[in-house]
Formats: sequence, C-alpha cells, structure tokens
Amino acid sequence: MVERWMNHSPGDLSVALPEVIAGDVSAAAERAHAAAPAWARTPVAERIERMRTAQQALATAKEELARGITVETGKPITEAQGEIGAVIAKIDLTIADAEAHLAERTNLGGPHASAVRQSARGPAAVIGPFNFPLHLGHGANVAHLLAGNPVVYKPSPFAANVAARYGELMAPHFPPDVFQVLQGGGIQGEALCLDPRMRAVCFTGSIPVGRTLAQKLASDFSKDLALELGGSNALIVCADADLDKAAQAAADGACLTAGQRCNATSRVIVERTVAAAFLPRLVAAMQAYTPGDPLLPETRLGPLISSAAVTRYEKLCDGMSGSWLLRGRVEPVIAGKRGHYVRPAAIQRDDDGHTDSECFVPIVSVFVAEDLDHAVRLQSATPFGLTASIFTRSETTFRRLGPQLEVGNLYANLPTTFSPSTLPFGGWRDSGNGRPGGRGFIRFTTREQAVQVTGFDTE
Ligand code: NAD
Repeated sequence: MVERWMNHSPGDLSVALPEVIAGDVSAAAERAHAAAPAWARTPVAERIERMRTAQQALATAKEELARGITVETGKPITEAQGEIGAVIAKIDLTIADAEAHLAERTNLGGPHASAVRQSARGPAAVIGPFNFPLHLGHGANVAHLLAGNPVVYKPSPFAANVAARYGELMAPHFPPDVFQVLQGGGIQGEALCLDPRMRAVCFTGSIPVGRTLAQKLASDFSKDLALELGGSNALIVCADADLDKAAQAAADGACLTAGQRCNATSRVIVERTVAAAFLPRLVAAMQAYTPGDPLLPETRLGPLISSAAVTRYEKLCDGMSGSWLLRGRVEPVIAGKRGHYVRPAAIQRDDDGHTDSECFVPIVSVFVAEDLDHAVRLQSATPFGLTASIFTRSETTFRRLGPQLEVGNLYANLPTTFSPSTLPFGGWRDSGNGRPGGRGFIRFTTREQAVQVTGFDTE
C-alpha cells in the first residue's frame, strides 16, 4: 500500500512537490458518518449561504489554484485558469439546481394530501481523476453538500497538493467534518467507496476501475453509484462540411490537455469524397500544437501526466497499424526542462477501429468512410458512448445521423471536447451508468420520499 509519495512537476521534473501522506479511510468515514445527521437537518438556505462563502474563498485564490494545477499535472495554464473559472461558476449553477430539486412538492393529486420530499442520503465518497483535478470532483462535492450529505473527497494522487489546497479553502465554510479531503491512491479510493458508512459514490475515472466498483457494490443497492468514465470519441466529417473548421476542431479535441480528456477526439471519420482535401488540413492543425512549458500563457500542448503515460504513447505509436499521416515523437526536454512531453500524431487506419481501451494521449486515428451509413458503423465500433460530433452544413443530415449515435453528448460542428457546465455530462454504454454529472447531478444525491397524510384531528 502506498502510504506516502512525492509528485514531480510533469513539465519540469526537477520541481518536487511536498510529500503527501495517505489518509485514514475508516477515520474519515466515521467522522463523515457522525457529521451527517446535523448537516442533513441544516436548512437548505444555510447550506447555500455557506457554499457562497466557500465560493468567495475559491475566487480569491483562483490564480494560485490554476498555477497549482499546472505545476502538478502539466495542464497548460490557460486551460487551468478555465478549469478554475468552471469551479467557481459551478457553485452558481448547482445552487440553482438545488433550489429547484430540493424544494418539497405538494398537492400532487390522489386521494390524500401528499408531498414528495428529497431526503439527504448520508456521507458521499467523491473520487476524482487527474485530468480535471478540481472541477470534476468539485461538481459532485457541491451537489452533495447542498443536498445535505457530508463529503469525503479523494482526489487523484497525481494532483494531491492542489487538491489539498482546495480542501483548505472549502472546509472552513462548513461544520467540522462535513467536507474532508482524503489523500490516497486506488487502495484508499476503493476502501472509501466500499465503506458501508458511505451512502453514495461519485467516481470519475477509468472504465476498468468503474467496472470493479460497480461489481463490488452491486449488492449494496441502497448506495448510489455514479460512474463518469472514459470514451473513444469520434468526429465525423461529412462531404458537405466546412473542412477547415472540422480539421481545427479535430486537432483541438485531440490535443487539449495533451489528449488526456474523457471527451478527447481519438477518432476522425471522414467521407471518402473529401478525405484528400481534409487530411492535409488535419495534419497542419495538429502540427500547430507544439509541446511547451505549461506555465507559459502561449503554450497549448503541455506534457503528459507521467512516465507511464509516455510509455503508453510510445507503445501506441509502435503498435498501431496503418499509414502515419503525422508521426509522433517523445520530447524528453523542452526549453531546457525535462518533462513528459510528446508531439501529436495521426494515423490513417483500414481496420474498423474496434478498441476496448481509451487512447488518452494526443493520437488521432483517421478512418475513411464510403458513405454516411459506413461512418455510423465506424463510430459504433467501440463500446463507448461519451461524445460525438458531426460536421455538416445540413441540418437534415445531422437529424438523420444523430439519433444513430449512442452517446450521451452529441454535437454538430463543435469539438468533441465542448462540454459546458450548463448542460448534463455523462456517457452511455460503457462510458457511464446513467448518472450524468454536470448540470442536474444533484438529482442523484438525494433519496425521494412520497408522503401521504390523513386522519389528523383538527388542532
Ligand atoms: P483512474 O481510474 O486511474 O483514477 C481515478 C481515481 O480513482 C483516482 O483518484 C484513483 O486514485 C482512484 N482509484 C483508482 N483505483 C480505484 C479503485 N479500485 N477504487 C476507487 N478509486 C480508485 O483515472 P485517471 O487516470 O485519474 O483519470 C483518467 C480517466 O478518467 C480516464 O479514463 C478518463 O476518461 C476518465 N474521465 C472521465 C470523465 C467523465 O466525466 N466521464 C472526466 C474526466 C476523466
């Protein structure tokens, strides 16, 4: 069991961050359990007020937090600033959701006076990934806290320091033990999720881990499990598409966060009649993503998270069959700094693109489709269903193809990564379990109770 570790900045491996010590899972669960009844009784208005003061604290520290994300995970600073902006805005959106969802509904018809109430579930375990180290866990944290559930947030071990700072900013605005950050890796994460005192789990991470949790929690059916998992997202380029825009969107989708996004574009499916015109545009747009120091505002492609991710990138570059449109390369040193840097790559493939694993590095697989029905078959060749985008000028085409794509997030003429917090965000098929995060996640944080009353004496 990893009890202590030290992260090095992926963009400058000479920078060592403070040592992190794994937390005591059982003690954290017990504290959350003890804090639960009083927090559930706390009026919603007070929970909202406390959340607003937490929001101010986060806003005051936004530059520090953005820098913390960049230093610890290598995410380019402009992206990290965007992430913190989303963290702050998420509080307003979730408060609006809470006001609507948590209100008691009355007079619903039927023979007796009735009401439907939303009741707190109890302590929630929130497990975060490294790639949006604050935003994704935070979305679930805010919803659970507003719903009256204490939260134990276990961030990615790759983002432990910035998550600890986030915890220092959030926790003082709530009663003791209502919001805790628990450090650790998979062992602590799993022990927390399986702990019977935790009554809800929101897991954002990889599919194999999500599957393990679903299997191990299957018999505890009163514990809500929300799974936000990975994808192998396709961008379809129809013959009538604006090819410049499609190429730029594909490159952005493949290279943002160095390809380490659940909604990254890992597949591009282009109709044969425009393939020859589209492919050079795609290559040029991807070549414009050159690796750089993530702390510089002009950098658009930062490093990968770890040496293991670089090894995986190399294996994909060596093992994929097809013709390379843009060869990838590892860049161990950028601007004099040693880091986990790689260049984007694109390969044209002749197979059907079936894969059970995510790409999660800046490599795009390109498939040429004979027609749009073939494009739909290629899109469906993986078991994932997170996002897909169709580039076409024809609304009729979009309306014909769209319903055939089994994805939780469907776009016309936008990158597959375009996922604003104003909408729900979740995957179909192997990409999730029907508990979309983003807008409206609060509906999974409560238990619904139907109440009927009759027979009271008049008082
Ligand atoms: P990961 O699955 O390796 O780890 C995610 C978190 O789970 C970490 O905090 C980790 O410590 C913890 N963990 C590991 N094993 C566990 C276990 N057995 N039980 C409980 N927790 C455990 O994922 P990662 O590499 O940090 O993040 C990348 C993954 O997250 C990708 O698969 C990506 O697609 C996915 N992701 C999904 C979404 C979404 O909203 N659908 C968003 C971002 C990332």
